[in-house]
Amino acid sequence: MASDSSATASDTVINLDPNGDLLLKIGKMETPEKARQLRISTSIMTLVSPFFKAMLKGNFQEGQLALSETNPPTLDLDVEDVEAMTTLCQIIHHGRAAQQPVHLEHLVRVATLSDMYGCQSATASWFHSQLLQRLPPTDATFGEDIAAVIRASYLFDVPEVFYESTKAAVQYLSMAKSGEAFRAGLGDTLPEGFVDAVKAAQMARLQAIRRECTDLVGKFLPSKIRRFITLPDGTEVGIPDVCMLQSPRQARYISAVHAIGLWNQSGNGGKSLVGTPVKAAVELLIQVAEMLKGGEMCCEDWRCDTCKLDSAYMVKETAKELLEKTHGFCLPCVRAEGKNFTRLAGVKCGVHEVYPDTALSAVTGSTELRPRQLPY
Ligand SMILES: [Zn+2]
Ligand SMILES: [Zn+2]
Repeated sequence: MASDSSATASDTVINLDPNGDLLLKIGKMETPEKARQLRISTSIMTLVSPFFKAMLKGNFQEGQLALSETNPPTLDLDVEDVEAMTTLCQIIHHGRAAQQPVHLEHLVRVATLSDMYGCQSATASWFHSQLLQRLPPTDATFGEDIAAVIRASYLFDVPEVFYESTKAAVQYLSMAKSGEAFRAGLGDTLPEGFVDAVKAAQMARLQAIRRECTDLVGKFLPSKIRRFITLPDGTEVGIPDVCMLQSPRQARYISAVHAIGLWNQSGNGGKSLVGTPVKAAVELLIQVAEMLKGGEMCCEDWRCDTCKLDSAYMVKETAKELLEKTHGFCLPCVRAEGKNFTRLAGVKCGVHEVYPDTALSAVTGSTELRPRQLPY
């Protein structure tokens, strides 16, 4: 290709398809030095994008272009984000360059264009593979990172990632620490009120944790029934045999969960859990379990069923379950409900099936990262 001293970036052609029948010139009129030419195949572009289909096959002026593999015509496309547009076209053309890992910020920019041109069917698997090349988010940048993944999954229209990443936000996001970074990271992509919906989901989960923590006291009683009493109306009620040591044990548990704000009737004096991520509350509960373990007492009566109960283990299992039962948001429902998030916060969607993806949940951090199980 001829080039002279006034050569600009737009003189360089990126061959996405060497036999492409169109030169797509992307950029802004005001900044021709940033423009770029992509040699593309219009059949693949019109296949994946309704926008390009309407433009190239419709009755617009562009539709009348004399497409040619030997002498491709040039089409100017007004695009602000040349870099992201290049990546988008590379993805659509299965270019090797698109397989390189990109920054989250670039991912969101590509997502914005994918949404604008309606290319979601072509970009979803690219988004998946980009995420799988990433490490779980770190604490320091969690707010903005998880916001970027949520925003991208919304724009790329991938319900599984949206569910996993919103779940990770409910589990881990500290509104006090990174609420602002989270809000800023989401931009205005999601319906208004979404941040409050995440907060509401956290509160709903914390309330469920409180209930569970309170109900646990009942579960600390042995299930074996040795004695019955008969009520005046004749009904028999089984009474569990509880040894003397059980009441100090329960008192210790109740005061511990009360102190961390997880006792249902916690009034004044209990810790306030507003803005606490679910994981932090669960961590506190695991600490209670550790404390119980340290001080387990035994009455040394071999018939005692109470002392055989491993309350530390029960608390730990409950804590694990509470974390796992935390739900993310259902993307189709968020789209359908608009701002009406109250119905969705922290609730499992009963309408749309979201297939859990363990690889993804490891990336978003919504499950503990464990080495993968080998099938043999
Ligand atoms: Zn005992
Ligand atoms: Zn749903």
